[in-house]
Amino acid sequence: MLNLLFIADVIGSPGRDIVRALLPTLRTRHDVGLVICNCENSAGGYGCTMESASELFQAGVDVLTGGNHLWDRRESIAYLADEGRLVRPANLPEGTPGRGGALFTARDGTPVGVVNLIGRVFMKEADCPFRAATRVADELRTAGAKVIFVDFHAETTAEKIALGWHLDGRVSAVVGTHTHVQTADDRVLPKGTAFVCDAGMTGGFESVIGMNREAAIRRFITLMPERLTPANADLRMNAVLVSVDPTTGRSVAIQRLQVPYSRAGSASAARILPGEAPASAALDAARVEVTRLKSTGTQPVLALVSIGEDPASQVYLKRKAEACARVGIQARRVALAAGTDTRAAIERVRALGADPDVHGILVQLPLAPPADPQAVLEEIPPLKDVDGLHPLNVGRLSLGLPGLVPATPRGILELLRFYDVPLKGRHAVVLGRSNIVGRPLATLLSRKEVDMTVTIGHSASGPRLIELAREADLLVAAIGRPEMITADWVKPGATVVDVGIHRLPATGDGTQSRGRLTGDVHAESVSKVAGALTPVPGGVGPLTVAMVIVNTLWAATQQAGVKV
Ligand code: NAP
Repeated sequence: MLNLLFIADVIGSPGRDIVRALLPTLRTRHDVGLVICNCENSAGGYGCTMESASELFQAGVDVLTGGNHLWDRRESIAYLADEGRLVRPANLPEGTPGRGGALFTARDGTPVGVVNLIGRVFMKEADCPFRAATRVADELRTAGAKVIFVDFHAETTAEKIALGWHLDGRVSAVVGTHTHVQTADDRVLPKGTAFVCDAGMTGGFESVIGMNREAAIRRFITLMPERLTPANADLRMNAVLVSVDPTTGRSVAIQRLQVPYSRAGSASAARILPGEAPASAALDAARVEVTRLKSTGTQPVLALVSIGEDPASQVYLKRKAEACARVGIQARRVALAAGTDTRAAIERVRALGADPDVHGILVQLPLAPPADPQAVLEEIPPLKDVDGLHPLNVGRLSLGLPGLVPATPRGILELLRFYDVPLKGRHAVVLGRSNIVGRPLATLLSRKEVDMTVTIGHSASGPRLIELAREADLLVAAIGRPEMITADWVKPGATVVDVGIHRLPATGDGTQSRGRLTGDVHAESVSKVAGALTPVPGGVGPLTVAMVIVNTLWAATQQAGVKV
C-alpha cells in the first residue's frame, strides 16, 4: 500500500514551523511514500516565495500545490514558474507560468501524478476544472501514472463534491483546499477515489482561517482595507492521509489528521497530577479505620501470593507489603516456587480462603508456568478478592452494587477526584480493554455517580482510534505500548492518565546502567498539549497500591461485620 500525506494550506511562518517540527514523525509513523503540501499562503499568509518553498522542501515535503494566492508575491513569479516540484492550477489561461500537473516518484518507486485545479464558483474566472481535470489526468495516465492525486482549490462544497463524483474511478484522490476549515466528510467513493471537501489549514487556530483575528474582525466591521498577518496561537497541522493500492490506483482509505503543536522551549502546558498525594491521603484514612477495626478485635490480614520470581512482581509485592505495614494491616507472604502446578496453587488459595484470620487474598500476576492464573483466581472467595477479578465482583461492579473493584481503575478514579478533574457529562476514551484496567475503568466511569460518556479502544479499533482519542476530555492509556500516545492523539486541554509502565533498554553509551521508566504516553510531547497528565513513575502506580489496602480494609470490615 502506498500512503500519500497531504498537508493542508500552510499559513506563513507559524505554518512552516509546524511542518518542520511535525513532518519527520508523521512521515515515519504513517510510512508515507510521498508528501504533498499546499503552499499558496506559506509566505507571510500571502503567496509562496523561494524561501518559503525551500523551507517546506527541507522539512520533507516532496511536492507543492498552489491556488488563487500563489502569485501574490510578484518577485517570486519567475521562481514559481521554474520550480519543478510545484504544480499550479491546471485550468488557468494558456501562458500562465508553471505546470498544472506533473509526475513524481514516491519512495517505493511508484509514479504519482499530482494535479492542482481551481474552482469557478465565487472565484476569479478560470477554465472548466472538470474538463481540465479529465485532460490532465489522461495525460498523466499516458505518462505512466496509476496513482493520481488532485488538490481542488475551490470555494464551494457543491463544486468540490461534484468534482469528486466526476473523477471517481479516474483518479486516486480529490482533496479540497481553500476554505481552511477541515470538513468531516472524508470517504472513499464507490469507484476508489478518496475524497474530502476541505483538508483544513496548518497554522494558528486562534484566528480567522489562519490570520490574526482582531484585524480580520475589524476588516469585516469597517470594510476598510487592512493587511492581515498570520496568527500564532493554538498551532495545529491539518492533513489527510490517503492509502492507495499502487497496482490499481484505487484508494482504500482516507484519514483526516489534526495534529496540535507547541513551539519547542515553550512552557509545559499540562498540569502534572502526581499519585503520591492522593495515595497518601487514602492510606492515612485507612490507618485510622484499621485502628478502629483493631479496637473491635479484628487484625486485618492480607495474603500476598506469588508463584516464581518475576522481578517486577517482587517490586510490586514489596510495595504492597510496605503499604500494609504503614496502615497496620498484617501482610502474609505466600511465595510458591516456580513450577508449582495449578492444583497445588489452588489448594493453597483454598486454604487461605477458608482461614478466618485472612481477610484479603491477592495473587500477583503473572504466575510462573504451568499454573493457570484464571483457575487460581477463581478459587479466591469473592469477599477476599481484593483485586476484584472474581466473576461475582465483576458482576457487582457492572450492576453498580458495592463490592471489590480492581485496584488500578479504582485508584484512577480516586486520583481524578482528588484533583477535581471535571468528569460528569464529559467524554472519556479508555485505550485498552483488559479485565484488570480498561474494562472495569470504563464501567466505573460510566456509572451513574460518575456520569461520563465512555468509548473503549483496543488493538482492533483501526486508524480511527486516534480520532476518537482526540475527542476525549479524559484520555486513559492502558495499552502496554511504550510512549505510543503522542501529542497528536490528544485534544488540547484534555486530561491524560498514563497507566502503562515500561523500562526502556539502557542507552548503549554507558551513561545508564538501567533504561529509564516510561509509560504508554510520550510525556514530553503530550505535556505541551494536554491540560493535565499523570506522570510515570509516580502517577497511577502509588494509587494502585493504596487501593489494594483500601480494598483489604473493606473486605476485613465486611467479614468482621463492622459498619464502616
Ligand atoms: P493488557 O492486558 O496487555 O491489555 C492491553 C490492552 O491494550 C488490550 O485491550 C489491547 O487490545 C490494547 N492494545 C494493545 N495494543 C494496542 C494498540 N496498538 N492500539 C490500541 N489498543 C491496543 O495490559 P494491562 O494489564 O491492561 O496493562 C496495560 C499497561 O498498564 C501495561 O503497561 C501495564 O504494565 C500497565 N499497568 C500499570 C498499572 C499501574 O498500577 N501503574 C497497573 C496495571 C497495569 P486487545 O484487547 O485487542 O488485545
